[in-house]
Amino acid sequence: MVDKELQLAEIAEKIKKCKLCFLSEGRISAVPGVGSFDAEIVFIGEGPGAREDKTGEPFVGASGKFLDEMLASVKLNRSDVFITNIVKCRPPKNRDPLPDEVAICTENYFWKQLDIIAPKIIITLGRHAMYRFLPADRKISEDHGKLFQFKSPKTGRNFNILPLYHPAAALYNGSMRGVLLEDFKRVPKILKKLK
Ligand code: URA
Repeated sequence: MVDKELQLAEIAEKIKKCKLCFLSEGRISAVPGVGSFDAEIVFIGEGPGAREDKTGEPFVGASGKFLDEMLASVKLNRSDVFITNIVKCRPPKNRDPLPDEVAICTENYFWKQLDIIAPKIIITLGRHAMYRFLPADRKISEDHGKLFQFKSPKTGRNFNILPLYHPAAALYNGSMRGVLLEDFKRVPKILKKLK
């Protein structure tokens, strides 16, 4: 247990000092992730935005508020789960991270974080996070709220993946709010089944 906590903290320290790709040049803070090293659920976003870059914490803006609301709807809070992003530094002007930036960040940090935490479910938020785990012909409009399997490229460990829309989608489109909350409701039942 303590070992897991230490290993995650070591990775977070490396992320904060990382200079392996271009994204490090423009950052105020790297955003390694927050939450429990022993979490059953890990949430994955695409990359930090402006507020996250300022604070060093993932999902602290408007979409983060909605994420907190969704967690509360199933009686969870941030300290029960782990929240992180595919890339740990903010892409300039919030552009999509480039393939080499994703490759460097996932190879050095992301897969390691997941293998250490070994969660029961990985919940991807939005298309970009979903495509780290599911093939490119999958569509979030068809596959949100469904459970998939994925093998870790590092350890071969099997992960359960639940793709959801990005909480920001609910900010632009009111009907998405209900869709996300409905998908989210399945999480406790899925967890119970996996035990
Ligand atoms: N959107 C993301 O995908 N990640 C964050 O940390 C914030 C907003």
